[in-house]
Amino acid sequence: MKAEIIAVGTELLLGQIVNTNAQYLSQELAAIGIDVYFQTVVGDNKERLKEAIRQAQGRADVLVFSGGIGPTQDDLTKDAIAEVLGRELRTDRPAMDKLTEFFADRGVPMTENNKRQALVIDGCTPLPNATGLAVGVAISSDSHHYIVLPGPPSELKPMFADQAKSWLLHQVLTGEMPIYSRILKFAGIGESALEDKLLDLIDAQTDPTIAPYAKEGEVAIRLSTKAENIQEANVRLTALEVQIQSRLSEHMYASEDVPIEETIVKMMADMGLTVSAAESCTGGMVMQSLTTIPGSAAMLRGGIVCYSNEMKEKLLNVPHDYLEGTDAPGAVSEEVAVVLAEQVRMIADADFGLSVTGVAGPGYSERKPVGLVYIGIAEKGGKTEVFELRIKGNRETIRKRSTKTLLYRLWRRLVQAEKQG
Ligand code: ATP
Repeated sequence: MKAEIIAVGTELLLGQIVNTNAQYLSQELAAIGIDVYFQTVVGDNKERLKEAIRQAQGRADVLVFSGGIGPTQDDLTKDAIAEVLGRELRTDRPAMDKLTEFFADRGVPMTENNKRQALVIDGCTPLPNATGLAVGVAISSDSHHYIVLPGPPSELKPMFADQAKSWLLHQVLTGEMPIYSRILKFAGIGESALEDKLLDLIDAQTDPTIAPYAKEGEVAIRLSTKAENIQEANVRLTALEVQIQSRLSEHMYASEDVPIEETIVKMMADMGLTVSAAESCTGGMVMQSLTTIPGSAAMLRGGIVCYSNEMKEKLLNVPHDYLEGTDAPGAVSEEVAVVLAEQVRMIADADFGLSVTGVAGPGYSERKPVGLVYIGIAEKGGKTEVFELRIKGNRETIRKRSTKTLLYRLWRRLVQAEKQG
């Protein structure tokens, strides 16, 4: 069973709103075993919408529409479907009663165009709108199934979850198995290097399937399987996860869709460890990422944004001759990264001290290339490590990558600490 999602709205095409309805519907359809092969976006234009419907009829069994069922003249979804199917629109009595009541309650007259919200396609199952006024539609015709939902997510979601889904399951889906998915998250490795390590598994995949994708500086893999129930799915997903983990243990930090900072906060809280950071080019981004995670208060001691050389010297005791002078290594150097990490750890009396110093660009600094970054990790009673990074990209990419790489390195240290008990 194949589905196509057709989101209607010129606002979507203009980039004024994000198509979150398509994301929601894709996830919901996958969960009940329906494969979404296409997501289409079309503006508020009846002819182009009809064209999109005809195209979708040629490649999908289920057509799910979002938007364009409100009161205005540019709300044309039901009109377009009715015309393609050669059916009439009729007024749904309960929807019209609801509209009448709504306007009577407010003591304002109902304008003619509002009545459009009570229209349904002849022969359909109307889908009452629990959180709004425009009635939805579910209809089967010539071996295709059509579901028409309102645009506002607060209306679309309950209408789909409480009504359209069971309509689909009852009318259409006898025998199809739901799809269960699991997300594995990786850091410190790019998407192509990760794929390379799993090439044989990816080539041989049938069920479960393996789909790698990159997401905000992290790499994820989605494992999916069709199964009778979640227990059966878990057995298969876990078997594959174990295989992947054994090949990528240095990079796989979670088997759920969480950022690496969440894993770090959990591990540090469990081990009763604390951390602080001295940040130059990231301007607090490392601390910021950690503070987004609930529970970080227990492990975050605090941090210092030491952008200028003066602050590095005054607040973090970086020796003057490291920073200035012809033979000085300069602020962007391994030496300074070491001092920053060790000093901030001591000042904050934390178990770990982190540091970042680099050239985020644009433009050279200290005659050093854009993208050259040093990140440091100091540990109470342990060794201080510094990593030199050479990151390609713009200022934002350099800052984000530096942050993610430092968090990755911290995670590695925590894994080691965990092993050593
Ligand atoms: P209304 O009665 O509000 O006119 P409608 O069913 O005609 O509802 P639209 O007019 O297309 O829907 O969209 C109404 C609002 O719903 C949009 O302004 C937007 O906020 C939200 N919306 C519409 N489509 C989407 C979408 N695909 N993803 C997320 N939000 C959407």
